[in-house]
Amino acid sequence: MDMDQMMFRKGLMTGERILVTGGGTGLGREMAEGFLSLGAEVHICGRRGGVLQDTADALMEKHGGEVFTHPCDIRVPDVISEMNDLIWDRHGPLTGLVNNAAGNFISRTEDISIRGFDAIANIVFRGTFAMTHDIGKRWIAAGDKGSVLSILTTWVWNGGPFTVPSAMSKAGINVMTQSLAVEWARYGLRLNAIAPGPFPTEGMTKRLAPDADSTDEMAADGSNPMGRIGRMHELVNLAVFLMGPGAEYVNGQTIGIDGAAFNASGGNFAALASWGDEQWEAAARAIKATNAKDRAKRTV
Ligand code: NAP
Repeated sequence: MDMDQMMFRKGLMTGERILVTGGGTGLGREMAEGFLSLGAEVHICGRRGGVLQDTADALMEKHGGEVFTHPCDIRVPDVISEMNDLIWDRHGPLTGLVNNAAGNFISRTEDISIRGFDAIANIVFRGTFAMTHDIGKRWIAAGDKGSVLSILTTWVWNGGPFTVPSAMSKAGINVMTQSLAVEWARYGLRLNAIAPGPFPTEGMTKRLAPDADSTDEMAADGSNPMGRIGRMHELVNLAVFLMGPGAEYVNGQTIGIDGAAFNASGGNFAALASWGDEQWEAAARAIKATNAKDRAKRTV
């Protein structure tokens, strides 16, 4: 990320202790870097221990400070609790949680098995709730303040054709954000969400646009009125604004950051209705190969 584009003063997040789920890669890694560079203690979790450690080492080398890694599968509530016990015991209470971990792939919905549906929903819907629930209960029991930021998509507003398990799950987390913002405000907890348009990550290209050479191609088709994809610092500045001190009255909001693609063209994969069997078969093969490669690196 281009650090010159950060909007905030140095040290803004000193004293914050933030867990970013899926913080080893993509947007999670970028947000972790933003928080660290502004003085926060950062914790990242994911299923690939080596990927987490490489990220932590790279970020600490660049910015100093402390990034702690936690191999953890958010689909397993007991594993979430064990990780949070360890964080609370060794480091102290978190002040913030970023629900960023997710899985997704494009498919015709009639081709998805219930197992395939569960593979996504168990991470995005159930896992995100389990993490928020475990950490929320700790904050409430101790009377600590805390902030939760969930990374959604603009599909929570208009549906996600060809990404239905993800769209359904993210929509559920959108409602969780709105509900708990009200229910838990009396405990000093707040919940917000960001709905990004396309940003250049491997997760985006490999499973959502396996036929595109890069996410740039996704903006070149006229669907985005700004004619481009997002830049990492733009997302990170918004995440810092929502998680840092000074924006406490922002609660229960889902904020889009997509160059107005949602307004212009729906910002989803509706255009894939024109694909035929051959394109879907090629996409399924590419996604399967990516899954196998990632699975081989998992340590939990
Ligand atoms: P990504 O690099 O694939 O990030 C997903 C992360 O989640 C990975 O680090 C992955 O690590 C982790 N993860 C997946 N399943 C997990 C599990 N069961 N337990 C723990 N960690 C798990 O993709 P990304 O593009 O950065 O996506 C980040 C977030 O932004 C997602 O919520 C995505 O829906 C959202 N988003 C992205 C875009 C975009 O254009 N990039 C647009 C809209 C929304 P492991 O595989 O090691 O577990």
